Amino acid sequence: MISNYMQQVSSYLHNSPLNNIPYLVPFIESCIQVLTGPITGIRTANYWVLVVIDLLIIGVLFIMTFRGRPEFGMSGFLRFAFPKELFTNPSTKTDIKLIFANNFIMPFVNVAWRLTAIFFAGILLNCMITVFGPPLKIFEWNKVTLVVFTFLLVFAEDLGFYLCHLAHHRIPVLWAFHKLHHSAEVMTPLTATRNHPVEFMLIPPSKALTGSLVLAPALYLFNTMPSTLEVFGMTLASATFAFFGSHLNLSHIWLVWGPRMQRMFVCPAQHQIHHSSAPRHHDKNMGGIFSCWDWLFGTLYIAPREPESFALGVYGATRQPHPGLISAYTLPFIEAGRACLLALTACRAALRGSWLIDRVQARLSRRQTIAASSSLPTSSMPTS
Ligand SMILES: [Zn+2]
Ligand SMILES: [Zn+2]
Repeated sequence: MISNYMQQVSSYLHNSPLNNIPYLVPFIESCIQVLTGPITGIRTANYWVLVVIDLLIIGVLFIMTFRGRPEFGMSGFLRFAFPKELFTNPSTKTDIKLIFANNFIMPFVNVAWRLTAIFFAGILLNCMITVFGPPLKIFEWNKVTLVVFTFLLVFAEDLGFYLCHLAHHRIPVLWAFHKLHHSAEVMTPLTATRNHPVEFMLIPPSKALTGSLVLAPALYLFNTMPSTLEVFGMTLASATFAFFGSHLNLSHIWLVWGPRMQRMFVCPAQHQIHHSSAPRHHDKNMGGIFSCWDWLFGTLYIAPREPESFALGVYGATRQPHPGLISAYTLPFIEAGRACLLALTACRAALRGSWLIDRVQARLSRRQTIAASSSLPTSSMPTS
């Protein structure tokens, strides 16, 4: 009923004079969708399922930690799950502002998202056909192959996320944008969308690029197009990882796996370490779902069972670089511009350096040639 009512509001807006103002109606619609999403399920069909799963995990953790202690009870649970100081922190207020503002910018971000796994898989498939000949199409999809495909696709996409994340940490121009995510001083699920639109533009195409490494061979070998298995309105893989607390990665909950499991899967405690401003945690734990990438590339930091003491924030920063929405959007562009200028200056110096070396070498070889020709025993040469 509420969905129908929202559709009526939407058609009324499109037929109203407001529709003449560019971007205004889509902006109002996206704001309404954000506000009513938890009730209507528009764009967030799995919203409530995830909330229930996360609350169950937090509940089990609460029972395990506080059983028999004075804090054990409903009010204690609410303080444990939703600490007031987290949700009233200025950093969280910036998170909320970004959620609304990013919705306005999303139509522009969506343009980059047209670079899907299907797009890249099409290019890769053409390359495979050129090298190996026409598609074999020798297999049929069944439940087992679809489950394997669903998880392999997530695995491959997670590599794309890791590489994109690593690039955002190692390349100064990209770090300028990713720094916004790291300037969060407290972690709540709202921090999950504390990202600059430029970063939001780059992540899905990166995942799509590596996802195509699984999709293209599947298109080459199987008779029909594959489809990922879905449960609770999300892919089977997302639902499975949700039960392991993947949606609590952006939270204050110190949920930790054993050291062996931590080499394969990211746990929320690992991601908290990723947001730490302590030098020992710098550039660690960049995986999204799988931590094996961190293990392989040497960026893994195993979270201890007991919470470590550290402050969240940008490594080396002495004050909050993004205290509000304006600085959150504009400062990354200024810092990226500075990083570009520095890189250009370094390139010019390097080029000038090599040009100088070339000139010096050319001059030296010319001198040697002259010296060699002048040292020829001209007096002993036979004269006619
Ligand atoms: Zn990061
Ligand atoms: Zn994060």
